[in-house]
Amino acid sequence: MRLILLGPPGAGKGTQAARLVEKFGIPQLSTGDMLRAAVKAGTPVGLQAKAVMESGGLVSDEIVVGIIADRMDEADARNGFILDGFPRTVAQAEALDAMLARKGMKLDGIIELKVDENALLSRIEKRANETVAAGGTVRADDNPDAFKTRLDAYKVQTAPVSAYYSGRGTLKTVDGMAPIEEVSKAIDQLLG
Ligand code: ADP
Repeated sequence: MRLILLGPPGAGKGTQAARLVEKFGIPQLSTGDMLRAAVKAGTPVGLQAKAVMESGGLVSDEIVVGIIADRMDEADARNGFILDGFPRTVAQAEALDAMLARKGMKLDGIIELKVDENALLSRIEKRANETVAAGGTVRADDNPDAFKTRLDAYKVQTAPVSAYYSGRGTLKTVDGMAPIEEVSKAIDQLLG
């Protein structure tokens, strides 16, 4: 099973991906998580990505396509994966198509979570508060300023990715405003 989850920041991609990992026994490939790990480890990629991530902007296509290509070659991704946070630009979607064609792989589903823009900031604030309550560290980009930049990046650079797939007739949409369990059910139904 090879899936892409699309949707704005705070749409619930990570929540649904975690459940699909359990259900299908395939890894979640989150470019956000991979980049945060690189920043934490202070790798060359992390050093390049840190400032732009903190501001809420997008890391270069070249870096992100590189880390995804490497990650897809790891043994645990051989039977499938859930892409979360990638592709985020049309150039990344085209690079993914080329990568899959080279490997002789096909996508089984591209699912977009649709969420009202007004709900997103409060979801991010809730996540930050819950993280603090649990004694964790809030993401450097989970604040109103960086969030605004993330939302703008989504609208300008990522919304066209939905159009890219819907133009090919491969995009499916789920109401991301429904309770988590219902969103999960809707995704299960789409995947048959
Ligand atoms: P969100 O919760 O906003 O969807 P992610 O955890 O997916 O956040 O990503 C956090 C940040 O990592 C993004 O704002 C961006 O700076 C960077 N990033 C993640 N994935 C990509 C990508 N595919 N292309 C460019 N930058 C990315």
